[in-house]
Amino acid sequence: MQLFDYMMAHGHEQVVFFQDKDSGLKAIIAIHNTNLGPALGGTRMWPYASEEEALVDVLRLSRGMTYKAAMAGLALGGGKAVIIGTPAKDKTEALLRAYGRCIATLKGRYITAEDVGTGQPDMDIIRQETVYVTGVSPEKGGSGDPSPFTALGVLHGMRAAAGVVFGSEELAGRRVLVQGLGQVGRHLCRLLAGEGAVLTVTDINPRAVDQVVKEYSAKAVAPDQVYALEGDIYAPCALGAVVNDATVDRLKYRLIAGSANNVLAEDRHGDILHQRGIMYVPDYVINAGGLINVAEELNGYQQQRVMEKVARIYDHVRQVLFVAEKENIPPYRAADRLAGERVHRAGASLRMGMPAGAPEPSGKHVPEVRQVG
Ligand code: NAD
Repeated sequence: MQLFDYMMAHGHEQVVFFQDKDSGLKAIIAIHNTNLGPALGGTRMWPYASEEEALVDVLRLSRGMTYKAAMAGLALGGGKAVIIGTPAKDKTEALLRAYGRCIATLKGRYITAEDVGTGQPDMDIIRQETVYVTGVSPEKGGSGDPSPFTALGVLHGMRAAAGVVFGSEELAGRRVLVQGLGQVGRHLCRLLAGEGAVLTVTDINPRAVDQVVKEYSAKAVAPDQVYALEGDIYAPCALGAVVNDATVDRLKYRLIAGSANNVLAEDRHGDILHQRGIMYVPDYVINAGGLINVAEELNGYQQQRVMEKVARIYDHVRQVLFVAEKENIPPYRAADRLAGERVHRAGASLRMGMPAGAPEPSGKHVPEVRQVG
């Protein structure tokens, strides 16, 4: 890979490689953009097949974080880190502490959090070496599990999109398919059941399915049935790239709104959905609740403030869908444009020597906030 060419093409500011021989640490931190503030993004630990694969992943993920933070109205930039290794085998206290010292050298330009392969106990270890870490345990001023907030944000966004697609934000009676009943999917089922939605669920883990079926009277279907079913709303809450060449023409839902990251295998799949009249709510707009939650740790964590900010996902989704409709473009393009403009404006302010600031997007409508957790 021609790294500088890639960085220039996609606007990355900085990529840092770290190694620690004693602990076996091999980490890459990518800072995509800091116009709006320090780059916050999780640390993914994964047994990448090659260094190039790890590099591509961290570059792609860090850029996504810039857009996510910008759309969420946060005073944060986008960054991400990867550690090459198998968590169960390679993740030791020595490795995490060495990694914490690496983060410290960036002096706050990058702030980490948990991601695939890392969790709250790991963040607590990293905290021993640096303050530039979120997602630590509540006893250490942390915010705990972000999943209920991610699920709540998805619910707010789903309501906003339902208003546009169905002419009513009411979810009672809507047939919703939840794919993936892990941390977020489970909470989303609870919230949707509370709204009176008619739930169909699927997961590759039968125990997760049984629990949700029992608790929320949901109907279970096999994982491969998702693309054969017909319904109102499809909520992908498992893996990414579920809208791809094999599925995009088969989907028979009017709205796609879920927590999964990178739902579209490629941008062109978003164009096809648009042509087919299926509304896709861009992942990073609707699934920002978890980021909003950890970001609050930097302000002195208060759950009520998190709930209010997560409720604004409703407005962010409305704004994206408004622009998409007005300009007859797919929502993913509208979101990229809105987020890109905000980052660009902040960059222009900085160049003129003015604070970039991070005004919250106008949150006129804050829907009723329900209990989470
Ligand atoms: P998780 O690992 O807890 O849950 C994922 C679930 O999907 C698991 O139960 C797994 O068995 C199931 N699954 C995997 N493959 C499947 C398949 N083919 N069909 C059906 N089910 C399948 O993850 P999570 O934390 O709930 O996150 C879910 C998604 O939301 C991920 O894409 C994640 O990146 C994204 N996300 C999560 C958060 C958060 O706060 N946890 C925030 C933003 C985005």
